[in-house]
Amino acid sequence: MFSPNAPDIYSRAKKYDRDKKLKEAGVYAFFRTIDDTTENKVNHNGRWLIQVASNDYLGLSQHPKIKEAAKAAIDKFGTSCTGSRFLNGTISLHLELESKLANLYNKKSAIVFSTGFFANSGTISTITGKNDFIFSDRENHASITEGCQLSFAKTLKFKHNNTEDLERLLKANNGQHGKLIVSDGVFSMSGDIAHIPELVRLAKKYEARLMIDEAHSVGVLGSNGLGSAEEFESINNVDIIMGTFSKSLASVGGFIASDVEATNYVKHVSRELMFTASLPPASTAAVIAALDILCTEPERRTRLHKNIAYMIKGFEQLGFKVKNRKSPIVPIFIGDLEKTLKMGKMLEEEGVFTNLVLSPGVPAGEELIRTSYKATHTQEELDFVLEKFEKVGKKLEII
Ligand code: PMP
Repeated sequence: MFSPNAPDIYSRAKKYDRDKKLKEAGVYAFFRTIDDTTENKVNHNGRWLIQVASNDYLGLSQHPKIKEAAKAAIDKFGTSCTGSRFLNGTISLHLELESKLANLYNKKSAIVFSTGFFANSGTISTITGKNDFIFSDRENHASITEGCQLSFAKTLKFKHNNTEDLERLLKANNGQHGKLIVSDGVFSMSGDIAHIPELVRLAKKYEARLMIDEAHSVGVLGSNGLGSAEEFESINNVDIIMGTFSKSLASVGGFIASDVEATNYVKHVSRELMFTASLPPASTAAVIAALDILCTEPERRTRLHKNIAYMIKGFEQLGFKVKNRKSPIVPIFIGDLEKTLKMGKMLEEEGVFTNLVLSPGVPAGEELIRTSYKATHTQEELDFVLEKFEKVGKKLEII
């Protein structure tokens, strides 16, 4: 049907066979169906597995008060807002949540997006313009990269978590243009924590605005669980705090908190905010309830950090290479594609649900098994995970 002069746009799709090869080798580990859940377990293919692959760091997704709040919102507002914030989809719960977030982060204003992805892509692409420069960590989340690609500004990527490289780029591009430095607070795959004080110093020195993505640090870091900026007592020095509701806050959606001028502009210009249906009532109410619990149950954060420290020590004692020190993301470095795939499959057979991180998530040859922990994991569950890692790690001669 397509002549050689009019190649079919489907040709790339037709050639794509990465998933097929993994399926044939029996190690395909993506889009796995979860049929049922308990607090720390998932049911997959008729078997219960210990969940060490979620981002539900505080274990709030099964919290009775949050479920109640979501149900009450459905009773009052229905199941959907059926429209965008801009025209017909703003409900009072959105405003309540925005005001709560602004207060918590000591910012003048906050706005809520339907996803964390949109919060990043919409904000970055709107707030920066033609003559601006964006300085972005090489390992920032895909939604930040998306925002940079959508923006008319020029993006320069600095080496991961390397503020010397950032300064080199800032120095070399210190002309008469607006500048935005953007970084994850906790990096989603490696669990690395950004050098916030140094980012703040460089933003001040080179007169740049600073944006920090707190997706994986909300509920985890800081004296009140507000994230990495709070951890380094730098909230007031970060111009745009961005966060998601889809991890510790047991819901879906995202936000930015900043100055009124910035949020108002994004609110009236960002396509990701204006031209998509708003956050559903149940999801919005769930976040409001989760923020209350964040403030009233700090012991969850203490338990989370105890669990993280226990697992890092446990993995290291077994001889695994573990990178991070304080975030709930504890990636086990495997550094070999085949072994990573086999290990993921074997762990699943042993009753442990993990995530595999392959290229392009990490460079080829740096493959990881990404595990992550929750405040609600019990000692017994954590020991079970370590025991299975030891068994499989020894079989595959990783340890
Ligand atoms: N930023 C980071 C660092 C993330 O890890 C994610 C999600 N994995 C997002 C933004 C996007 O958030 P959401 O999934 O809530 O859209």
